[in-house]
Order: sequence, then C-alpha cells, then structure tokens
Amino acid sequence: MGTLRGYDKRIMVTGGAGFLGSHLCERLLADGHDVLCVDNYFTGSRHNIAHLLNNTRFEAMRHDVTFPLYVEVDEIYNLACPASPVHYQFDPVQTTKTSVHGAINVLGLAKRLGARILQASTSEVYGDPTVHPQPEEYWGNVNPIGPRACYDEGKRCAETLFFDYHRQHGLPIKVVRIFNTYGPRMHPNDGRVVSNFIMQALKGEPITIYGEGQQTRAFCYVDDLIEGFVRFMGTPEQHTGPLNLGNPGEFTMLELAEKVIRLTGTSSKIVHKPLPQDDPKQRRPDIAKAKSLLGWEPKVPLDDGLERTIAYFRSRFL
Ligand code: NAD
Ligand code: UDP
Ligand code: UDP
Repeated sequence: MGTLRGYDKRIMVTGGAGFLGSHLCERLLADGHDVLCVDNYFTGSRHNIAHLLNNTRFEAMRHDVTFPLYVEVDEIYNLACPASPVHYQFDPVQTTKTSVHGAINVLGLAKRLGARILQASTSEVYGDPTVHPQPEEYWGNVNPIGPRACYDEGKRCAETLFFDYHRQHGLPIKVVRIFNTYGPRMHPNDGRVVSNFIMQALKGEPITIYGEGQQTRAFCYVDDLIEGFVRFMGTPEQHTGPLNLGNPGEFTMLELAEKVIRLTGTSSKIVHKPLPQDDPKQRRPDIAKAKSLLGWEPKVPLDDGLERTIAYFRSRFL
C-alpha cells in the first residue's frame, strides 16, 4: 500500500514503549512520519514515550501482539518481546507466544496491507557460538530445552515465519540480528549487565560479575543501532537479511565492570556470583554485510555511550 500523502509514511512500531522501540519512535517522528506505537507495557513504560504524546503524529495503543490487530499502516517494525533474561524467563510460555504468535499476527497484517516489515531478531539465534565472530551464515548452537530457549527458539521460529511469508506470499521482509545494545531508557531492573553495573555503581553496591568475568560481549550504543534499522528498512526489496547489527568492539565483563567503576567514580567493589546456565562464553558480530550494504558502522565508542547512559540513570533513578 502506498501513502496518499507523498513521502511521509504511517509506521507501526510494536514494542514501541520499550528501550529500543522508544528511540525508534522518536527517530521516525523526527524523519517526518506518522508513528503508531503498539505495546502491552510488560517491560516497556509510558514514561519512555511520555515526551512524544503531545506530537499529533504519534499514537500509543495498548495491545498484546499475541492477539490479532487490524490497523492501516505502510511499514512495520516488530520489536515486541521482552529482551533481558530476567524478563523473558519470568513467563517463558508468554515469551515464546510473543515471538511466534506475535510474528504470525504482524505478518498477517503486513500481508493484508502489502506493507514492508522488519523483525528485531537477535544474536541469541547463534546460541553459545562455536564460530567467532558470528557471520550471518552461521546456523548457531542453541539448547532447545534450556532456560534461554523460550527466547532463542521463539526468535528463531519468528525468523522462519518471516522467510516463509516472504517465499510463500512475496512479502517484503527485513530481518536484523541485534547484538547487545545499551543506552538511556534501559530498564533499571532488567538484570542486563550494563544497567546492573551502572545501578550498582551509582548506589555504591557491589558490582556483580557472573563467573570469572572472562566471558565477552560487544556493546552497541542505541543511536548507532537505530541508524542501522532505518537504513536497512530503506534498502531495495531483495535485501531481506538476516543482517547483523552491533558494535564489533569486544570486551570481557571484567573490563566492562572496570570501565563503569572508573566512569562513575564509585567506591563499589567487584563480587563474583555463579554463572547462569547456558551463558554464552563469547559474542561479537561480524558486520561486514551491514558495512557494505548500508555504508554503516557504529560511531559511538563504549566509554562515550556509557557516560551518556550513566547520566540518564543518575538523573532518573537517584
Ligand atoms: P524492552 O523490553 O525494553 O522492549 C520490549 C517491548 O516489547 C516492551 O516495551 C514490552 O512492553 C513490549 N512487549 C513485550 N511483550 C509484548 C506483547 N506480547 N505485546 C506487545 N508488546 C509487548 O527490550 P529492548 O531491548 O528494547 O528490545 C526490543 C527488541 O529488540 C526485542 O524484540 C528484543 O528481543 C530485540 N533485541 C534487543 C537487544 C538489546 O540488546 N537491547 C538485543 C537483541 C535483540
Ligand atoms: N491478522 C491480523 N491483522 C490483519 C490480518 C491478519 O492480526 O490485518 C492475523 C490473523 O488473525 C491471522 C494471522 O494474522 O491469524 C495470520 O494471517 P494470515 O492471513 O497469514 O493467515 P490466516 O488468516 O489464513 O490464518
Ligand atoms: N552479567 C554479569 N553480571 C550481571 C549481569 C550480567 O556478569 O550483573 C554477565 C552475564 O552472565 C553475561 C553478560 O554479562 O555473560 C551479558 O549479560 P546480559 O544479560 O546483559 O546479556 P546476554 O547474556 O543476553 O548477552
């Protein structure tokens, strides 16, 4: 379906009141589009989008994507799904339903409208990877019955559905595999490592490293990721992905803890806690495809992004 009004589009963002979704809504409004934010506020909050509510081009709808949805839009970004292990393991059946039933509903919607649709997939589809760094061709090493499976397998099945709607119904799809992303509006209690370390440091509590702290992750600042989303959505139809998006700078959790301690000036000390089951030992995106297709690569160094995130947590939660 084309737009009757020229360049601007009506864009639906599911999970739009979450961490990434709220930044995406903000960006799409700034680009001049109408934005429909669909969220059940399970992990997101109205606070994240409060500053957008006065914009007449913005609309917020409370809705659970596991139920059908009938609206008229030109483009869809499907981000609805709890993303941190603490949140997605709280109600694992609902997590799988959100990924799988949610994908079926938004794909059915996109099919009816002929709308372009982007899926927020994840580096978790690679599981505990045996190939490092992870290129898109790698099929992954996922435990299908472990505590992370509700998320990992849900997201894998959602990718399957996206590619089958593409092959079977000719739907224009875009699948991005997001690697660990951080920034302002992360949930303070979601248990993810960046928000945990910063909150602990600001409160003067012990910094909890799981295991020895030698496991690695690569952290992307939210603005860099959103730029990648928007550029990929704008590429010609044959570019379906899956496309890795993330920052290839790799750090151990010990290095991250030391950075947070230095940047906050905290007197907090490091303590070690047991490593969660199935915790991937290493993770770093191979972003060669995104670089060549989008002319994109992350610009914000970890120290700068952490400073901005620390400033947000300090102003909002202390
Ligand atoms: P988030 O928890 O802040 O956002 C998820 C949003 O989805 C929340 O607003 C939540 O209320 C909403 N939601 C959950 N279940 C829903 C349902 N059934 N119906 C409607 N809305 C629902 O997490 P985030 O970090 O912003 O993640 C956004 C998306 O990006 C997720 O799909 C996540 O899997 C993916 N992702 C994020 C990262 C990351 O590092 N932040 C990495 C990989 C993938
Ligand atoms: N769907 C929806 N909104 C729409 C169109 C479809 O929520 O505008 C849902 C619908 O409930 C259906 C699902 O998307 O269960 C898949 O739709 P599709 O047309 O692919 O399959 P079918 O309706 O044949 O099951
Ligand atoms: N982690 C940690 N301390 C914390 C929270 C997490 O050491 O307080 C570790 C966790 O074991 C994992 C890494 O940090 O190895 C990233 O965890 P997160 O939950 O942020 O994301 P994911 O495991 O999904 O990449």
